[in-house]
Amino acid sequence: MWELKEYRFAASAQEAVALMRQGPGTGAYIAGGTDMFLHPAECDFVVDINHAGLSDIARTPAGDLFLGAATTLHNIATNPLVADFAEGMLIEAAAHCGNRPVRSTATIGGNICNALPSADMAPVLLALDATCYIADADSQESLPLVDFFVGPRATVLEDRLLVGLALPAEAGTRRCASYKLTRSAEDISLVHVCVALGIEDGKIETARIALGAVAPVPMRAVLAEAQLVGQSVTEISPDLIADAAAIAAGECEPLDDHRASAEYRRDMVRVLTRRQILRALHDETTITKDSGGTVA
Ligand SMILES: Cc1cc2nc3c(=O)[nH]c(=O)nc-3n(C[C@H](O)[C@H](O)[C@H](O)COP(=O)(O)OP(=O)(O)OC[C@H]3O[C@@H](n4cnc5c(N)ncnc54)[C@H](O)[C@@H]3O)c2cc1C
Repeated sequence: MWELKEYRFAASAQEAVALMRQGPGTGAYIAGGTDMFLHPAECDFVVDINHAGLSDIARTPAGDLFLGAATTLHNIATNPLVADFAEGMLIEAAAHCGNRPVRSTATIGGNICNALPSADMAPVLLALDATCYIADADSQESLPLVDFFVGPRATVLEDRLLVGLALPAEAGTRRCASYKLTRSAEDISLVHVCVALGIEDGKIETARIALGAVAPVPMRAVLAEAQLVGQSVTEISPDLIADAAAIAAGECEPLDDHRASAEYRRDMVRVLTRRQILRALHDETTITKDSGGTVA
């Protein structure tokens, strides 16, 4: 039973922070409530941010994409401004979070602030170099998402509010592929791999390999990424891609739990990273793609 004494509504980001600090006792922000109702926070009051003007999805003239923290996953999955960004990788991630009723209220901010290692929006946002916008009482700070998570269920926020996330236009043009390995369509990830490759003049200029559910926080496999940078899209060797995937598997720190063993998760990072690199390279690579059934 949730022993909540007060339910507060904020009309702006600044008011939300002020209401959070007003006391008495401790508070927590609430957005869609899909995590909060499953795992109620130990708090005296909650501050509802659904009417704080944080639900916008916008593209700047330069093509940057902004997602308000209180935007629902359903709105992300169906918004035309998101559709052509990063070959639809954001849409795909949002559309595979939970089920339809959950996605109608679950927000992207809640998914990130909950800071579960398996949070499904985290790897895709990491692969696209997301920046977080964070509100304090009378100021706003931005920081790369990669620096936002400090441990399982822990972020840099303390009592501050996540206002939204911005993705650079350049990330929207990357070749992308992702795979959420899960026991059932509505379950959380066993392993989640997102690959985003920025290609210029036939070469991989930027490589991002982001992993979910295989470390205390959603992570980037930076050593594996470095292996790909500078490679020609048409001449990259199968061995180099296999090496990059093996390096990614070495970089992660999976746990054993009731869903899967650490060993299985690590091997799936290797298998899925290799496949997503191949998918992201599309048909410009000379390598034959997996048929889907083989685990190589
Ligand atoms: C049946 C079911 C299936 C699910 N399946 C998945 C799945 O497949 N993949 C997945 O990743 N998740 C899944 N979830 C978990 C959950 O739905 C998502 O993580 C969701 O995005 C959380 O968003 P929310 O708005 O409901 O968060 P809330 O429950 O409102 O909040 C979650 C946490 O974030 C904090 N918070 C929320 N917004 C902010 C903000 N703007 N600033 C600061 N702190 C904030 C809250 O204080 C709380 O601690 C599932 C949940 C259910 C019930």
